[in-house]
Amino acid sequence: MSDQPAYRADLRIDVGAIRHNVRVLSARARESGARTMTIVKSDGYGHGAVTVARAALESGADQLGVASVGEALQLRAAGITAPVFCWLYAVDEDFAPAIAEDVQLSASSLTGLQKIEAAAAAQDRVARVHLKIDTGLSRSGCPGELWPALVEAAAKAEADGNVEVVAVWSHLACADELGHPSIDEQAARLQRAYEQARAAGLDPIRHIANSAAVLTRPDLHFELVRPGIAVYGLDPVPQDGDHDLRPAMTFRSSVVLTKRIAAGESVSYGHTWTADRPTGLALVPVGYADGVPRTLSGRMSVWLAGKRRPVRGRVCMDQLVVDIGDDEVHEGDEVLLFGPGDRGEPTAAEWADEIGTIHYEIVTGMYRPRVTRTVEDET
Ligand SMILES: *Cc1c(COP(=O)(O)O)cnc(C)c1O
Repeated sequence: MSDQPAYRADLRIDVGAIRHNVRVLSARARESGARTMTIVKSDGYGHGAVTVARAALESGADQLGVASVGEALQLRAAGITAPVFCWLYAVDEDFAPAIAEDVQLSASSLTGLQKIEAAAAAQDRVARVHLKIDTGLSRSGCPGELWPALVEAAAKAEADGNVEVVAVWSHLACADELGHPSIDEQAARLQRAYEQARAAGLDPIRHIANSAAVLTRPDLHFELVRPGIAVYGLDPVPQDGDHDLRPAMTFRSSVVLTKRIAAGESVSYGHTWTADRPTGLALVPVGYADGVPRTLSGRMSVWLAGKRRPVRGRVCMDQLVVDIGDDEVHEGDEVLLFGPGDRGEPTAAEWADEIGTIHYEIVTGMYRPRVTRTVEDET
């Protein structure tokens, strides 16, 4: 048994790894003369937004970005005073709290801009706005043909005193596919939108680079970059070589029971696996309710007692069963479900590849009501 607590279902968050990754990313940005907005949406991709935000700001990040107003206000409530940007709202979103807390907002349309301006005027404050141009992702953002009207209105709003236009920005569709022609096309459209904004009398910065573009397209760093996934140590462009990122999340549990079964005995619901020899089993108290995808049944392994060992039969809601053969494994022994991979354990990327998704979805789905999160900061 290890000297650690015997966790049931715990996410170990390595803050030192996050600091390291932020240093790597912000150094790359600085080489291009760009600042860094660390993206901490969706509770810091499952790692804990406030923890990540603080570590990032101490390690070279200048600003923070989140999707929703609620997430931005959560950072403010935790005492974080750095610039915070958020870009996605409900149709009836009340912008007053965000403006009162100096949260920077995005506008993709005239009506959006007008709502922000009205909310700022009502408080006699200046709302900081980033105008979003749709350069080809076809999600949010202003279509090119409506852009001239938007920048004209923004210039007028700025002159009227309740809006300050901070940036013209956009988001890339295929940044993780190196050399994809859409990347240059989106960059060209951003540049055109920027020039139109300047012609309208605005003086914005530009930002478009997500993690993949921070790592592979220094020419797209402009004045500000917005890395997310790479902050957490997961590489969106592994085909580009080693980027010196350290995965920050380890999912761990520990053995609660060991036993032996005879040849011919089957394991777990549906009896999808049958032992062809007598073997030892270790019961691990995590299941799909704790974030282990049930679709990994029959095709996953864990790191336990010094090696990779296969999980047998179906992953249940609360439990899974590991084949330990004839080895000595003890109740309380640590089980690594995924982590950075340094010790031989699986990685989140490996889980994702196995079930046909991306590591983003794995880590953001891990923190659940009965899963604990242990923040370790050894730097
Ligand atoms: C999520 C997101 C990012 C970060 O993207 P990564 O691929 O995680 O680096 C940046 N900008 C916007 C608008 C996003 O939604």
